[in-house]
Amino acid sequence: KSKDNQGYAPICLGLEDFYTRRLYLRIQDCFNRPIASAPDAWMDVVERHSNDNNKTLHCTQNTTRCLNLGSYNYLGFAAADEYCTPQVIESLKRYAPSTCSVRVDGGTTRLHAELEELVARFVGKPAAVIFGMGYVTNSAIIPVLIGKGGLIISDSLNHNSIVNGARGSGATVRVFQHNSPSHLEEVLREQIAEGQPRTHRPWKKIIVVVEGIYSMEGELCKLPEIITVCKKYKVYTYLDEAHSIGAIGKSGRGVCELLGVDTADVDIMMGTFTKSFGSCGGYIAASKEIIQYLKYTCPAHLYATSMSPPAVQQVISALKVILGEDGSNRGALKLARIRENSNFFRSELQKMGFEVLGDNDSPVMPIMLYNPAKIPAFSRECLKQNVAIVTVAFPATPLLLARARICISASHTREDLVKALEVISKVGDLVGIKYFPVEPEKL
Ligand code: PMP
Repeated sequence: KSKDNQGYAPICLGLEDFYTRRLYLRIQDCFNRPIASAPDAWMDVVERHSNDNNKTLHCTQNTTRCLNLGSYNYLGFAAADEYCTPQVIESLKRYAPSTCSVRVDGGTTRLHAELEELVARFVGKPAAVIFGMGYVTNSAIIPVLIGKGGLIISDSLNHNSIVNGARGSGATVRVFQHNSPSHLEEVLREQIAEGQPRTHRPWKKIIVVVEGIYSMEGELCKLPEIITVCKKYKVYTYLDEAHSIGAIGKSGRGVCELLGVDTADVDIMMGTFTKSFGSCGGYIAASKEIIQYLKYTCPAHLYATSMSPPAVQQVISALKVILGEDGSNRGALKLARIRENSNFFRSELQKMGFEVLGDNDSPVMPIMLYNPAKIPAFSRECLKQNVAIVTVAFPATPLLLARARICISASHTREDLVKALEVISKVGDLVGIKYFPVEPEKL
């Protein structure tokens, strides 16, 4: 583990060298696969060939139609949509692909202002600000919220954009065991006394950072318990909802809605538009004062070209569908569908004897492979049978905790899921990754 105990990258250089240079070189075909269509339930994967044992891969003109179990297209908006697409095309004609300007100059269109209001209303906060990239939203905002003399207490499995934002802030970073409210309390108790007034503490500010759904684990945050600890010690909370906003909760409002947390108890709500909304960019939603402060001080707001207008329009249109403001009930149907699909797929995988991480309702489903040498066999065999699955390994996970990470979408039909299960089951037998015995009644 790295020095501040967050992130795996710098461990044991010898092994890192071996895996990145020797193994990954030979299994390059399992990563960076170019596609030639929208990343919908089915997609066209470009075929590649190599003359030097996979060291160099060349794209061919051929494509293979594959069932897509890898994209974060949770609600199926990353495809032509009867409501969104015409509006996005219209916005492209009116505003062009780029504003060619930063927000404070000519980079704020009517659409940017509309989306900020809509996001604030949707997530249940007084105000919001949007950015062109989700990663930058974390890495640029955290250093504006907190700096030297401050303390960030971060979940050990937080995303790299949070880790980099925390490191770049100059604040002291402490890590608590993944999703453990009791260890969070232990870490807090080492720093401050319960109920100690903020003005009497050795830290200028303390922020606890967590995620709604952990993207490599498929796990829901234990948010109610974490909020209880944060309130007890009077510290700020920062919640990254990249994978939960739009994907879970009765009306798609994320982990707060699903677990019955009042959004007033979360100080900073962060999310991205790259998953459930089929677009790109990110947002921060908070009090009017915080958002105004960010707009005046955050370099990514002041010095970066604003979010592309058609991408903004895509989020506005998708949000209107989710809110039922498009005049249909498609949003509600999509939300019901992703939940049903996720719970069906998870329970079927478990019945087959796979070790599946994560919680019910989460559309992210990692299947443990453990040994990284199982990555190529699993990935290639699935692809041969027209099922595209993402595999993740070191340095995104610890070295011996490689996994296949499945993302379920509302656009998958039951037929798609049954086909995927058949293929995964066969490949699972071949590769030897059914680690749990199957009980006879489950056969
Ligand atoms: N936060 C989390 C938890 C993520 O998983 C990701 C990326 N998947 C990001 C932030 C960065 O978002 P984006 O891909 O939209 O830049």
